[in-house]
Amino acid sequence: MALEIVHYGDPILRKVCKPVEDFSTLSPLLDDMFDTMYEANGIGLAANQVGVDLNLFVIDISDIESEGESIHIFINGKIMDSGGESWFEEGCLSLPEVRLEVKRPEFIEFKYQDESGKEHKQKIDGLLARAIQHEMDHLNGIFIVDRVSSAVKMGVQKELKMIKKGTVTRAKDRKALVF
Ligand SMILES: [Zn+2]
Repeated sequence: MALEIVHYGDPILRKVCKPVEDFSTLSPLLDDMFDTMYEANGIGLAANQVGVDLNLFVIDISDIESEGESIHIFINGKIMDSGGESWFEEGCLSLPEVRLEVKRPEFIEFKYQDESGKEHKQKIDGLLARAIQHEMDHLNGIFIVDRVSSAVKMGVQKELKMIKKGTVTRAKDRKALVF
């Protein structure tokens, strides 16, 4: 079942999310998060974007840049190391109508748990590394507007105000990848 996506201005998107401790009850939430992400044409979704205060997110970048099947669940993630530099236009399901070129490290070393609680540590680059960094930012209360210069942020003030007021709830333009 698709859930409602919460937008910029909601306090849950500004807090550091709690670690997952009980893995046995996650399955229905994960199903709903995938439904929500697909319905919104997103490629990633963090739990607090559907109002849930837990450190977990889902990603599906299958068929983008010929990634092949690439569906992921990351729980209690932590970026241990990162390097390189890349620019990419990002959209955000919690910031409809906003598109920003965001600079991020090109590769990361990422530690996380899967839905059974098993720990993994992996070196990741490309679009998956970018999507993970976008979602980890959400789980730490950070938006893409916090990752750009104040001049660039000024340029989207009008959109931010409209989103806060609830005037814009869904992006019309689907050109950028949203997560
Ligand atoms: Zn986002």
